[in-house]
Amino acid sequence: MARRDDPLCRSARLEASGPAGLTAAAYLASGGTPLLASETRLGPAAPGFLVGAGDVGAPGAEVLARVLPEVNPDALGTEAEGRLAELPAAWGGAAPWVALGGGGERGGVVFRGSAGCVWCFGETVRTLGPPPTGVLGIALGALGALLFQRLRLGQGPALGGRWCTAPGQVEDMALRRCAKCR
Ligand SMILES: [Zn+2]
Repeated sequence: MARRDDPLCRSARLEASGPAGLTAAAYLASGGTPLLASETRLGPAAPGFLVGAGDVGAPGAEVLARVLPEVNPDALGTEAEGRLAELPAAWGGAAPWVALGGGGERGGVVFRGSAGCVWCFGETVRTLGPPPTGVLGIALGALGALLFQRLRLGQGPALGGRWCTAPGQVEDMALRRCAKCR
């Protein structure tokens, strides 16, 4: 089903324990992106579209290996070229990178393509906490998946951030700049 020459069909590493990351996973998988999920254990807010209440506490990789093929038979990756993770997370490897986090009452997503500064990305994500749960987390995850797909398709900007203040309400995030880019 997946076409190897389609940029959306290149795989991604997923680190998710809650609704933001799992919603992003559902969108990416249904869009044709194979996912290699981390062993991060699913949190109490995880149950929703992809996973059930009985999956709380189980490693994400184990649960997603079971449920993702129901969304898309090609949805399980064996190697990862990009990364989508709930904060806090470690960053490395090839872009795109998409971080799902939050601050105060808002959800925040920070994204970086291969031309985006690694250090500015790092400076910005370290100011954010974990992503919100509930309906705001779901909205944030959908936005994160869209931003990941845009970068995969070569659409800019190569570095940016967005606040999600309510489902459907998105604002630009002012990025922290590294010493080199200031
Ligand atoms: Zn920079």
